[in-house]
Amino acid sequence: MSKTYAMTGGATGIGASLKEKLQQRGDRVIVVDIVDAEIIADLSQPEGRREAVLGIHARAPDGLDGFVACAGLGPHIEPKSTIDRVNYFGVVSTIEGVRELVGIKRGSIVAVSSNSAHMDDVDAGHINALLAGDEAGACEWIDKQGDYEAGANAYCGSKRAVALWVRRNAPDYARAGVRLNAIAPGMVDTALNRGAIADEVFRDAMTRNANTIPLGGMGDPDMISDAILFMLDDASRFMAGSVLFVDGAQDAETYPDTF
Ligand code: NAD
Repeated sequence: MSKTYAMTGGATGIGASLKEKLQQRGDRVIVVDIVDAEIIADLSQPEGRREAVLGIHARAPDGLDGFVACAGLGPHIEPKSTIDRVNYFGVVSTIEGVRELVGIKRGSIVAVSSNSAHMDDVDAGHINALLAGDEAGACEWIDKQGDYEAGANAYCGSKRAVALWVRRNAPDYARAGVRLNAIAPGMVDTALNRGAIADEVFRDAMTRNANTIPLGGMGDPDMISDAILFMLDDASRFMAGSVLFVDGAQDAETYPDTF
């Protein structure tokens, strides 16, 4: 039977690949994005987040089989605080906004984090501000840092905060019948990644990362959307509170004693 999903960030990259696979198997997909979507909304703004959540409720009053918070920005985007706004607040507020809808169908929610979430040279105070919901404080701190520090802290910090938020909230969601998990992709060839590689501040770090993936080379969006499909489907029905690394063993090589 055809299922109903909603997602953010379905216009390009990983999200577009997922959208196409869901549509190909006959599922309905409600896409929120800043361009090329059924619901056009800017998730960097509280108003856009509200429009996204209201738009999904209006289109799926009988519930959702799943929701994927995929929209995100790379570390090179200006102003850097926009990265916090989309990658953390855009993710958490949309997940909270659709939780009840996913509960109706005892469905699955996937937050798209990153293997950058593990990087440990980022500021703990900034991550704590994100987790405390202090958008103004977190963003103000980011915009005071130098280019590299601001981009790295906003990107890695927001992705770490999303993974921690998922871990902290998954038990409650599970009790309400909702499986909440995060996926942590490694480097994948998308517009986001190409933009960061082309940026002179991030070029060296990104190129080094791209050249040291043990499985050999960057992934493509298809590899990540396959994993997200598994996380949405019944095949993963006992999976809740997980952060799934899909990164060609890069995280394992960098942090072998952490899991
Ligand atoms: P992408 O740039 O192709 O896709 C990002 C999507 O987010 C686009 O559709 C874009 O329009 C949307 N978006 C951006 N700003 C928005 C806003 N303000 N409001 C609404 N939508 C907005 O890049 P991608 O690599 O496919 O990224 C998808 C997710 O995967 C992101 O969360 C990214 O951080 C994450 N990720 C990517 C990689 C990688 O190497 N590409 C690695 C780890 C995690």
